[in-house]
Amino acid sequence: MLPTSSFAAELTWPVYHAAVRDGTTPILIPIGSMEQHGHHMPLHVDVLLPTEFARRAAKEIGALVAPPFTYGYKSHQKSGGGNHLPGTTSLDGATLVAALRDVIKEFARHGVRKICLVNGHFENSWFIIEAIDLALRELRWGRIDDVKIVVLSYWDFVDKDTIAKLYDGNFPGWDLEHGGVLETSLMLALYPDLVSLSDAIDVEPAEFPPYDVYPVKPEWTPPSGTLSSPKEASVGKGQILLDVCSKGIVSALRTEFG
Ligand code: ZN
Ligand code: MN
Repeated sequence: MLPTSSFAAELTWPVYHAAVRDGTTPILIPIGSMEQHGHHMPLHVDVLLPTEFARRAAKEIGALVAPPFTYGYKSHQKSGGGNHLPGTTSLDGATLVAALRDVIKEFARHGVRKICLVNGHFENSWFIIEAIDLALRELRWGRIDDVKIVVLSYWDFVDKDTIAKLYDGNFPGWDLEHGGVLETSLMLALYPDLVSLSDAIDVEPAEFPPYDVYPVKPEWTPPSGTLSSPKEASVGKGQILLDVCSKGIVSALRTEFG
């Protein structure tokens, strides 16, 4: 027999089937993007981080992690630098909604009744909610009305005290934390071989006018691609963030899934 795994796709079908058919085992679906993250990190940061948070939570609560969504909705200039930047490879909103709706319905068909979307890319947020709404509506038409879905973004579990401790009064806001201290510290703690801090470019937090223009004005995005500086990132900060977010996610899932 193959060894057991928290990753659903690493199981044989009989092992998977036994785990999910009675609806008790939650499925956690990481959802990210392929998006530039400055000169010091690779394009799949938004996939790696939620996948690892999902894996940690799955081990704690006895859940399974689904294969992640590796493409996401288009990068917005004020939260990801913009979709015009090289490397950033995105789905149309309708495509993302349709694919996610299909996957949710498939897991429900297998018997899964507890699903969590673990988001790692801010721009996915409303499309995830739309996919959940459509999937639950179609499942109800099929007389399946006992599916519960939790949706979360890992950074929302960083509390005020942790922000005060890590940023020393210089917290730029989550929208500008693209390729900055949060993601870089987490990557340093988890995947140090994928970070080159010596290539990180020190930038002032980006400033945008209170409106958007399309086509985007590329000059609004700092040339480095990050919206704040990663220079103050560290392994230690990454470990604190890992701990705080993991605990928060586990607690939320215990509350909602029992
Ligand atoms: Zn990111
Ligand atoms: Mn992103």
